[in-house]
Amino acid sequence: MIAIDGPAASGKSTVGRLLAEQLDYLYLDTGCMYRAVTWAALQQGIDLGDETAVTHLAHNIQMEIFPVREGEKDGRHYTVHVNGQDITWELRTPAIDANVSQVSSYLGVRQEMVRRQRAFGQRGAVVMVGRDIGTVVMPDAPLKLYITASAEERARRRTRDRSDQGHTASYDAILADVQRRDQIDSNRQHSPLRPATDAILIDSTDQPPAAIVNAILQMIQEPVNGER
Ligand code: C5P
Repeated sequence: MIAIDGPAASGKSTVGRLLAEQLDYLYLDTGCMYRAVTWAALQQGIDLGDETAVTHLAHNIQMEIFPVREGEKDGRHYTVHVNGQDITWELRTPAIDANVSQVSSYLGVRQEMVRRQRAFGQRGAVVMVGRDIGTVVMPDAPLKLYITASAEERARRRTRDRSDQGHTASYDAILADVQRRDQIDSNRQHSPLRPATDAILIDSTDQPPAAIVNAILQMIQEPVNGER
């Protein structure tokens, strides 16, 4: 089990995905699950301020996450189905960015997503990425990483992503969104974003993901207490 946490656009998902590929582990980006609940709530016209209704939805939503299949060459890193519909790209819109932190602040939503994440972890060796993986979802993970970067660098990355995905992307608006989400995610009552006490802290501001992955792989391969 490898747990990776960090704020929005810190590079944690890229690092997690590359690590999973190198180690031949399963990969789960848990952010997509909160995004999927948000997407379904918006789709069904549910008031996002109605905690009971959103929590009910989170319990009843049929959500599946698959690895990329042969022929799916549109840049996706996994496929998300909700009620049988492929919504992978619908999850990456400014509307979801703007609303997901409210949905993920609800205790009942979190409890249900954590239950599903732990069930996924039962399938085998896994790299799981999110905000509360090292602290709540997999507190016993032997390797925990907390990846961060400056808000400006994270906003630059997110602006590039959104513009590559065909959305109008203003750096200033995205910086404001990143800072707003940091603020909500870090200060919410339930499972706030914070490093586990035994997490290794990594600043990705000036480091490309491949360099971080190599450093982690070296760390894993180093003998513990000088023994092999
Ligand atoms: O990582 P990503 O930006 O896709 O996450 C979207 C949102 O989902 C976060 O801003 C946070 O509110 C929520 N989230 C969470 N716990 C996780 C993963 C994501 O609360 N484990």
